Amino acid sequence: MGGCMWIAAVWFKMAKEKDRTRQRSETDMKLDKRRPTHAVEREFGGTLGASCIPVFLPLTVLYLLCVCRSPGASLLQWPPPLPPTAQLWHPLAPTLLLGWLALQTFLYLLPVGKVAEGMVLRDGSRLKYPINGFHSFCATAVLMALALWMGMPLGYLFELLLPLAVCTVGVSFLLSLYLYIRSFWAPNHALSLGGNTGNPLYDFFMGRELNPRIGSFDLKYFCELRPGLMGWVVINLAMLMNEVELRESPSLAMLLVNGFQMLYVVDALWNEEAVLTTMDIVHDGFGFMLAFGDLAWVPFTYSLQANFLVVHPQSLSAAGAAAIIALNGVGYYIFRRSNSQKNQFRRDPTHPSVAGLETIATATGKRLLVSGWWGLVRHPNYLGDLLMATAWSLPCGVTHLVPYFYVIYFTVLLIHREARDERQCRAKYGLAWDTYCRRVPYRIIPYVY
Ligand code: NDP
Repeated sequence: MGGCMWIAAVWFKMAKEKDRTRQRSETDMKLDKRRPTHAVEREFGGTLGASCIPVFLPLTVLYLLCVCRSPGASLLQWPPPLPPTAQLWHPLAPTLLLGWLALQTFLYLLPVGKVAEGMVLRDGSRLKYPINGFHSFCATAVLMALALWMGMPLGYLFELLLPLAVCTVGVSFLLSLYLYIRSFWAPNHALSLGGNTGNPLYDFFMGRELNPRIGSFDLKYFCELRPGLMGWVVINLAMLMNEVELRESPSLAMLLVNGFQMLYVVDALWNEEAVLTTMDIVHDGFGFMLAFGDLAWVPFTYSLQANFLVVHPQSLSAAGAAAIIALNGVGYYIFRRSNSQKNQFRRDPTHPSVAGLETIATATGKRLLVSGWWGLVRHPNYLGDLLMATAWSLPCGVTHLVPYFYVIYFTVLLIHREARDERQCRAKYGLAWDTYCRRVPYRIIPYVY
């Protein structure tokens, strides 16, 4: 009898749940006018790319870390400088990683800073985001300074980089798996347009859910600028400390690399609100691509220059340093001004700083800038970013290729990203986008590309 009642209760609950799901999907269908009704064009080499990249990129991270600290530091050396498996694991690595993630989560949740609204979603709603990344960075800096003052051997991180990278790759996989599984409970309008093809490998890679949240904790937004980006600064600083232990003072090259890259991170956190209008937040689902990119790829490959300088010290003349600083300054100026202009225009087109700019109308109601920075090339922000990337590698001299890995990879990434954005904008804006392309014919570099 008890068993029957239990079965009946379960049946009733399931029927209610089914009904609720049906009602929810009917509402979703009504709300979600932009649901992909045709086969979505696959990116990153489709299923094959999405299956190979999650294997290939983590191995690339480990390979680059090994090459960087090998005596020859040659990307083409054979056999490759593979470490013994014992060097891939250290019990301190998962502890440090989990502690770091916990600290950043705690700082994210602190009720400091303002709360901003994201772009309008397909169901007409807007999510709220805490703008406290810069506060978190300052709090982290104070904690780090305190720990250093108490004698924390930060330079030892140099020895732990490989096991830390292995653990971070593991966490990226686990997080992506969690994101993929939980996305099946998300309503249709909360799914990304590109990562919802029905092919598990492709969707796992691209990310199905657009803004996965646990309560008000936004997983994608959190990963985008905090643990990985700030982790990059900490790794750079650890390399500097290691250099001090080895050679008693930091080199000019190391100071420049640390300074430039810290400026980039601080800028991103200071302008955190601008991330809410980027492709990652607005368009891409949260899957392996972003989880691995944010958590593992950024901190471990973007710090290659500092890593390289520990083992391969470089001397830099004052004139050389001045030229590199000037290049970074020009890049930063273009990058910041163009990003701020677009962000301001998207948030409030009537703001005095953008109201005078020439624009063209589109069928969506949104307008496109055709003067100012966005009238120079179609991606002025990428141009600035590439100039800065070059300035970050030059302090490492010109004898090795590995410190230039970032510039090469970043050029490929931005060319590919520009093409992706172009496709999406053409789909969104149709003829208006073609008009924009005619008015502004160059993509990233004026008169060249
Ligand atoms: P963007 O910030 O360049 O945003 C592209 C979007 O801007 C388009 O989809 C469109 O969206 C809008 N847009 C394009 N043209 C115009 C126009 N003429 N007028 C008004 N709006 C326009 O995209 P990203 O997210 O790629 O880049 C953001 C920044 O992050 C860049 O500086 C980039 O260099 C940097 N970046 C850095 C990376 C790193 O690893 N260091 C990785 C990736 C990016 P809509 O019309 O819908 O608003």
